[in-house]
Amino acid sequence: MTRSEQLFEAAQKVMPGGVNSPVRACRSVGTYPRFLQKSKGSRVYDVDGNEYIDLIGSWGPLILGHCRREVEDAVLAAVKDGLSFGAPTPSEVEMAELVCQMTGVEMVRMVNSGTEAVMSALRLARGATGRSKLIKFAGCYHGHSDSMLVKAGSGLMTGGQPDSAGVPAEMAGDTLTAAYNDAASVRRLLEANPGQVAAVIVEPVAANMGVVPPKPGFLQALRELCDEFGALLILDEVITGFRLARGGAQAYYGVKADLVTYGKIIGGGMPVGAYGGSRKLMEQVAPLGPVYQAGTLSGNPVAMAAGLAQLRILQNDPQIYAELDRKGEVLQNGLREIFREAGIPAQVNRAGSLLTVFFTEEPVTGYAQARSSDLERYKQWYNGLLSRGIYTAPSQFEAMFLCAAHTDQEIQTILAAARETVRDMQ
Ligand SMILES: *Cc1c(COP(=O)(O)O)cnc(C)c1O
Repeated sequence: MTRSEQLFEAAQKVMPGGVNSPVRACRSVGTYPRFLQKSKGSRVYDVDGNEYIDLIGSWGPLILGHCRREVEDAVLAAVKDGLSFGAPTPSEVEMAELVCQMTGVEMVRMVNSGTEAVMSALRLARGATGRSKLIKFAGCYHGHSDSMLVKAGSGLMTGGQPDSAGVPAEMAGDTLTAAYNDAASVRRLLEANPGQVAAVIVEPVAANMGVVPPKPGFLQALRELCDEFGALLILDEVITGFRLARGGAQAYYGVKADLVTYGKIIGGGMPVGAYGGSRKLMEQVAPLGPVYQAGTLSGNPVAMAAGLAQLRILQNDPQIYAELDRKGEVLQNGLREIFREAGIPAQVNRAGSLLTVFFTEEPVTGYAQARSSDLERYKQWYNGLLSRGIYTAPSQFEAMFLCAAHTDQEIQTILAAARETVRDMQ
């Protein structure tokens, strides 16, 4: 037994499924999780001494790679001054100023996770509009708060069914589900629920059903529909924020949201989330306004130090995004070629540095097509790559994340591993 298997056995005795977040358990790919011990740049190392090229990057936060010197130094310096005060600190102000400057939001509130950011933004949207219904898209993930654990139920016009036990049906019933990349499905829901929809929330690039970019005009259509029906548009930029561009998807696709949620990259690897928007909306939040939201560790100085150090580098070196996009394109084209030559039906979707290989013949533009993927093939793909030193998502419905530390040579190493894996799959 490997050390990872031993640890997993011990973990399962004292933690549900042996993990603190479900996908990590690697159940859908029929293996056990590799327990990671250390990292550097684009590489991670497990407790058995195996080295991997990391295509997960902690699920997105580490856009500069692991253990980037500037981030590490900033964190160590902050630790020396104290781990937490529960009081205002200078770094929070710098963080808020930088986020506003980079993204165009006028005010921002820091929280501790993407889940919390979304939950708080939804409360604000409901408080500000006096409406209670929400529209989300099937296959979009917005964290695990009650009202967001809903996908398409028995039809687009009916209230959602919860995906999780423990979510009251009444709560899920206020969450309506539309089809991603289908603005007409949103219009139908808005028309069927006049004056009742507080907000439409969307991942501007869907990245939790695998990567599904928005069709041209889709996000703009949502903006117009929200204006027409008096609903707020919430872009959940927990993945896309600071990844597609300094200004996230808002800048990349030229669409302006009423509220935006951030997470992942904003914390540089520490647990951080944030939500922001116009001054008028954000002034509805306590202590200025009636929408209550608080957090003992929110704006934590060590977390702020990590996030700020990373954001400053992204702010000062916009060339990073062009490079990520270029490497993403090389990987996408290389993979497409490999599958084409092998005659294996696959779609390689990409938005900037986010990619997913779907094992299906159909172009994947939404949830239904994503679900048509051959999960048995994905399992072979995952395990083939892992055994060749490529660490990628243990689920068909997740993204590969490129980071600034990936070299051109490593992209070629990934492609070589992919070629061998695909040969075994034939
Ligand atoms: C990861 C994610 C979340 C939840 O963030 P956590 O920090 O895991 O709570 C919310 N929305 C999107 C789009 C995400 O990818």
